[in-house]
Amino acid sequence: MLTGLRPLPAEEVPLAEALGRVLAEPLTALTTLPPWDNTAMDGFAVRAADVADASPSHPVELRVIGEVAAGHAPTATVEPGTAIRILTGAMLPLGADAVVPVEDTDAQPGLADLPERVAVRFAVAVGESVRRAGSDIRAGDPLCPAGTLVRPATLALLAAAGHATVRAHRPPRVVVLATGDELAAPGTPLGPGQIPESNGPMLAAQARRLGAEVRTGPPAPDRLDAVLGALRGALVWADVVVASGGVSVGAHDVVRTAMESVARLDLWRVAVQPGKPLAFARATGEDGGGERLLFGLPGNPVSSFVTFELFVRPVLRALAGHARPVDRPQVRARLGAAVTKATGRRAYLRVTLRRDPRGDGMLEARLAGGQGSNVLSALAAADGLAIVPEGLAGLPAGAEVDVLPLDGG
Ligand code: AMP
Ligand code: MG
Repeated sequence: MLTGLRPLPAEEVPLAEALGRVLAEPLTALTTLPPWDNTAMDGFAVRAADVADASPSHPVELRVIGEVAAGHAPTATVEPGTAIRILTGAMLPLGADAVVPVEDTDAQPGLADLPERVAVRFAVAVGESVRRAGSDIRAGDPLCPAGTLVRPATLALLAAAGHATVRAHRPPRVVVLATGDELAAPGTPLGPGQIPESNGPMLAAQARRLGAEVRTGPPAPDRLDAVLGALRGALVWADVVVASGGVSVGAHDVVRTAMESVARLDLWRVAVQPGKPLAFARATGEDGGGERLLFGLPGNPVSSFVTFELFVRPVLRALAGHARPVDRPQVRARLGAAVTKATGRRAYLRVTLRRDPRGDGMLEARLAGGQGSNVLSALAAADGLAIVPEGLAGLPAGAEVDVLPLDGG
């Protein structure tokens, strides 16, 4: 699926809109941070040599000749025998080489008037409580490589290093299309044979969580012309179409046929459980431009969820520009009870995780409920998907498994 996929074009984005985007070029620091020596503490800027002999029983008295607060330039120089009151983040005045925290003096902390003298009760080393210019970042230093996901801390780093905008890839445009005659909008009274449409909200949320721009329409009925019309409409805008339902071998399963009419079918059916019927196709853009990807996910809600996580997620991440689209944190856990499965398909079991009660720091995985591909309650309760290899018919209690955690990324 990833073969030949290229990240979507880059655009200039203000930092405020960059969360969840992926950097299209490496960024370097435009400024040095801190830009100048400053204090890490509220206290007094001193010459360390002046207070070398200070102790609680023999404090050293210094004359206070001024103050410097954050956001202001110092107006005086610390001469031998003097100190300047200084507030966290303020520039270290000339002459000073250390800061004595206010707690190590006889001065009042907080909103006190500037004292004329201060008694220092402890010696300080040169550089103590001083944050040196450039100790965090130096102008020209590499900050983030291309392919970096912009997270809240990335935003802070980029802002601190002088960037107001970044070049980031355009996020993928995704149309989510539910199909099935039985589907009614959530919350509406159900007619005979109807069920609430739940894949649409789920798949849209899964795509949004990956930073995609998502549109959803009304569910399409199980008719070829209706599904075809919906796919054609979606392809006008979308980079990726995620349809669900109607992709199996039932008499009314028209999605795969519709996909074949607008795209080249690359793949149908995967050896995973849940999620066997899955169709994947590529269409060339109307303008001859970038490829459009079409997924026909199985209709059963858990199958839809799992196949999105396994197959749609890497494709969206590749389009979004991630350096390693398939990467995903996995944790190791021990099964709390035996599990069984069909051989020949890799199983993704919905499990809850907790610290193993035997106290060795391992996690223990237990089935979160029924493993039928329709059982949403167990999916919503699950902390992760435990992977059982295709060759096995099950695993005994205590066996170790890899688990894809479901919270976060
Ligand atoms: P299908 O893949 O169309 O054969 O559907 C398999 C099962 O999933 C059926 O029980 C459908 O009713 C159900 N299903 C299909 N699409 C949805 C949906 N959007 N929301 C909830 N259930 C669905
Ligand atoms: Mg159906």
